[in-house]
Amino acid sequence: MENIVALAKRRGFIFQSSEIYGGLNGFFDYGPLGSELKKNIRDCWWNDMVRRRDDIVGLESSIIMHPKVWEASGHVAGFTDPMVDCRESKQRYRADQLFFSPVFYKPAQKFLGYVAILEADEKTMMKDWFKRSEKLRHISGFLASGDEIGEALSFTEIKEEQLSQVLGPNATVPGTLTMPRGFNLMFQTNVGAMSDASSVAYLRPETAQGMFVDFKNVVDTGRVKLPFGIAQIGKSFRNEITPRNFIFRSREFEQMEMEYFIHEDADWSKCHQEWIEWCRQWLLSIGLPESHLSLYAHPKEKLAFYSKGTVDIMFAYPFGVQELWGIAARGNYDLGQHAQASGKPQEIFDEATKKKFVPHVIEPAVGVDRILLAVLCAGYAEEDVKDEKGNVEKRTVLRLSPRIAPVKVAVLPLLKNKDALVGRAKDLHKKLQRRYAVFYDDGGNIGKRYRRQDEIGTPWCVTIDFDTIEKPGDTFTLRERDSMTQKRITEADLFALLDEKVY
Ligand code: ATP
Repeated sequence: MENIVALAKRRGFIFQSSEIYGGLNGFFDYGPLGSELKKNIRDCWWNDMVRRRDDIVGLESSIIMHPKVWEASGHVAGFTDPMVDCRESKQRYRADQLFFSPVFYKPAQKFLGYVAILEADEKTMMKDWFKRSEKLRHISGFLASGDEIGEALSFTEIKEEQLSQVLGPNATVPGTLTMPRGFNLMFQTNVGAMSDASSVAYLRPETAQGMFVDFKNVVDTGRVKLPFGIAQIGKSFRNEITPRNFIFRSREFEQMEMEYFIHEDADWSKCHQEWIEWCRQWLLSIGLPESHLSLYAHPKEKLAFYSKGTVDIMFAYPFGVQELWGIAARGNYDLGQHAQASGKPQEIFDEATKKKFVPHVIEPAVGVDRILLAVLCAGYAEEDVKDEKGNVEKRTVLRLSPRIAPVKVAVLPLLKNKDALVGRAKDLHKKLQRRYAVFYDDGGNIGKRYRRQDEIGTPWCVTIDFDTIEKPGDTFTLRERDSMTQKRITEADLFALLDEKVY
């Protein structure tokens, strides 16, 4: 993970927001390559989800909506995470991510107290956890060598009176953690000149409500017929208690959501399954390996009362298997809520039965930033390769799918002081630029130039060499990133290759 974060910074994919002022936790900027990569992910999704389907239309709703939207949706009352404060370290934790490990003085099996640890450490980074316990031994005197750590309990299993025996993750003495309290994740602002309760508004915590609130507008203007979907890509904001794991959980992020409306009598379960599979296939189509994907069905007892079922597509990130894409069957809860709160019916007329009804919905919701992190993690590799002289050297390569790679082709004249080579290279570069993101590089030896492109995930390099200008056929050397093989190719074949792979 550290190497990926370092590469992201070094090559201009992702920067900390406001870095010159020390950064702002949970906010990030996408640099020249990152913004291209992100745009490509968005474009692929939009093309596949909206343009290449007849049953889905697009929407771009505003980020700040009427505050009543969030009352009706349940976000004002219930979009909270349980939060625990540490009075000593002033750190804040999400209660559901905190676990407690009982500590025993081993020789006498005497119970000493609890060490609080974070979920990621517990589930996926046992080694780190033990390292940290070692560190805690020194700072707290709470643990002594020879003490043993027992099986962890979750926050719900611990009683208030036991908190005095708990050592917080960044505390030096036990008893500094508070009981959890609800913390609303919505960012508040004020609309207009008055800054009082009447002007309170929220930055949207999801894009989905835009689709529900505009449902009638789309139905009345869009010539859509059930089943149909409304899709949107846009920024969402959540004041996450513990933003972490780089861009995985941030406070400003981008979502790609689609609400698929179906008849109230339709087989929702079948439709749900079809969307789960569609999303899985789409992730494969942008190059995520099948081995890193898994499904997690939320247990019935943990679902919201209106929800019929939620399945998450999980991705094996370096810091653990985590939610990438949630596919929820939400019944007709959202439209029903807005109908009730606004007094405007959100119904559709069924020609067959001559009855009106509120459609049900299946919602695939995914974060662009989480996909971007997944493709960086899955694509990153360091390998030993041989240079032209047969010496072994390290290469860092990002195996990004041509569909999303920020640069599709690098055009490289073999030498920069040969007019004929440079002229042909510039001509090819111009032609390619009309349709693709391409990069012209004439600096340094050709091996180094290939490596620079490997590191940013460019699938192909074309070198304009002496054979190009001296031999018949006007061919270039095409060098492939993953196999590093080279072959000769004509301009027409190069365009055909790109046309097939970049879609
Ligand atoms: P989590 O349990 O990880 O907080 P969630 O279940 O609250 O996520 P949803 O409300 O279902 O997430 O949001 C849909 C998608 O939006 C998620 O699957 C994820 O890809 C993305 N997402 C949600 N919260 C964040 C965040 N803080 N940072 C980046 N992406 C996010």
